[in-house]
Amino acid sequence: MKLTKEQYIRYSRQMILPELQGEGQEKIFQAKVLLVGLGGLGSPQALYLAAAGVGTLGLLDGDRVDLTNLQRQVVHSTDDLGSPKVISAQRRIHAINPEVEVRTHDERLTSQNAIGILSEYDIIVDCTDNFPARYLMNDACVLLGKPLVHGAIYRFEGQATVFYPAREGPCYRCLFPVPPSPGMVPSCAESGVLGVLPGVVGSIQATEVTKLILGAGRPLIGRLLFCDLLSTQFQELTIRRDPNCPVCGEEPSIRELIDYEEFCGLRAHEGEGLEGYGFQEGYGLIERPDLPYGLRVMELDQKMRAEEPLLFLDVREEWERSIYPFMDGIHIPYSKLHQEWEGLLPHKDREIVVCCLFGWRSREAARLLTSKGFKDVLNLEGGLEEWTLYQEESIPKKST
Ligand SMILES: [Zn+2]
Repeated sequence: MKLTKEQYIRYSRQMILPELQGEGQEKIFQAKVLLVGLGGLGSPQALYLAAAGVGTLGLLDGDRVDLTNLQRQVVHSTDDLGSPKVISAQRRIHAINPEVEVRTHDERLTSQNAIGILSEYDIIVDCTDNFPARYLMNDACVLLGKPLVHGAIYRFEGQATVFYPAREGPCYRCLFPVPPSPGMVPSCAESGVLGVLPGVVGSIQATEVTKLILGAGRPLIGRLLFCDLLSTQFQELTIRRDPNCPVCGEEPSIRELIDYEEFCGLRAHEGEGLEGYGFQEGYGLIERPDLPYGLRVMELDQKMRAEEPLLFLDVREEWERSIYPFMDGIHIPYSKLHQEWEGLLPHKDREIVVCCLFGWRSREAARLLTSKGFKDVLNLEGGLEEWTLYQEESIPKKST
């Protein structure tokens, strides 16, 4: 394809990169990328991918622009209030780069439409805010053999990775076999979110999309990147494929799309589940004023100072245990607890402190054990993150 003079000028600053040149720009022109969700994460990606000249951008979102969106969803503007997000984003994209072909899907992703829509694109980007959509996209991408560029946010923290089993990376289910119980994950509306956070995480996703298009660099396949903007720290974890994964494993049990609302307990109610480490934007749900079994970090500190004979039960998944180290105790991943809780029976009458990363899964675990007749089960509120912060704050700083 021959570039016009205007195209040479428009893309000159990236085409002089040795990793790009004319050939790379041609790949970008040919690329078809689907953004599922045009909220905080989708916004910066729509802007950067359009500016870079991505040939076809699919926009999927059934929502309208709302005033509370504008604090972080920078693709939309005040004039767009009430408009479909896909239309608002399309306008902005064309203002930046009229050459981009925009395909709008003003609807929700469902088990019925997912395969049809996703198969039109080369790369799928998860910019959603709810678990049914996340599992649905994951399964559809695995079935179609397409890469899924994942991003998620919570307050000041975010995560990003590329799920791509066709290139030996894990899928979302390899990491989170079970979805969270409805209401266990606070939404942006409940917990707040720093506006620039989806800008950072979305920009990382856009970078990964660009690298996948170019085949350049080292993509985030098999690596999960965490960021904490409050302390400005980035951390990387190695993540691996689970050979027993129900969708990308050696003997998959999921060979077609299922009912994801039901799978995530939104219909069945009282589903067993974990929060899936899910940083979620707008997973709007049920208030839980009662937090049973709660043990605050300072209370744990007091118990430890008093040398109470506590038994610690760590319910994190294997791969996330390196994030924060914890005391000696018993480790049973939450995803296995429903099968393996009987192993704890010898400790039935002891005081057990259950912990996970943020204290949501562990609360479910405490609920489970109590229902099985365990006498004294406590949940570490705020999880190991809160505990680690508390430890750091309470240790007097050494003078340097
Ligand atoms: Zn998998």
